Amino acid sequence: VGTLYIVATPLGNLEDMTFRAVRILKEVDLIAAEDTRHSKKLLGHYGITTPTIACHEHNEAVKAHDLIQRLEKGATIALISDAGTPLISDPGYRLVSQAGEKGIPIVPVPGCNAAITGLSASGLPTDTFVFLGFPPRKQGRLNTFLNDTAHHKATLIFYESPRRVIRLISSAIDAFGDRQACLARELTKQYEEFIRGPLSVLLSTLESRETIKGECVLFIKGEDEQPIGLSAEQMQTMIIEGLNQN
Ligand code: SAM
Repeated sequence: VGTLYIVATPLGNLEDMTFRAVRILKEVDLIAAEDTRHSKKLLGHYGITTPTIACHEHNEAVKAHDLIQRLEKGATIALISDAGTPLISDPGYRLVSQAGEKGIPIVPVPGCNAAITGLSASGLPTDTFVFLGFPPRKQGRLNTFLNDTAHHKATLIFYESPRRVIRLISSAIDAFGDRQACLARELTKQYEEFIRGPLSVLLSTLESRETIKGECVLFIKGEDEQPIGLSAEQMQTMIIEGLNQN
């Protein structure tokens, strides 16, 4: 059998490509790309002439079957997405799970990911974090989704389109209160920006702009640990229990 490589590509800055990723994309028989036209720029930049085939959200069920057959016959295939690591809020899950079931070797080739890249510069705790991907679009579902995460102690990470990011931040204020947060925009690109501060500051900063452009990742600090302490009532109960024991 062949091998399926899961190859991370840049988030915007073409220099963020590993030597290994370039070599593998040159060596494989076929590159399965989310959008072959979009990937042309990257492949051209590195002189990669390997044939490409489209494998996106809308044809993945059919394409996965075709790609698995090729892999079973011995082909080597690299999966790439438009940006960052495939399968992370991107297509490829069906292909990788089916390849795993068939015992086809799956080799990840690591590189960029917007969540981790932004987290490292967010200024928020990084020891534990929860990646929540794209939140639901409908307001009711969004509120439920946020309320369900309100008690996480870990830093929360959301992907969001610039068109919906103001609504996400104001809904987060309703669900969590005015927590510390960071918005990372246009990571690795010319107009890269981090807005750090309480959610209310992120909101007023964005609301003062005519338009919000570029891709965004929102980081929100987890719920603060409650101070360990006993209420006056608990203390009194303990004292009374202690007296009774003597
Ligand atoms: N697979 C990608 C990864 O590994 O990060 C994520 C793909 S997902 C379809 C696209 C979302 O990722 C955007 O809506 C945004 O939230 C985030 N993203 C991707 N590139 C970004 C960038 N350059 N700056 C900020 N966020 C980015």
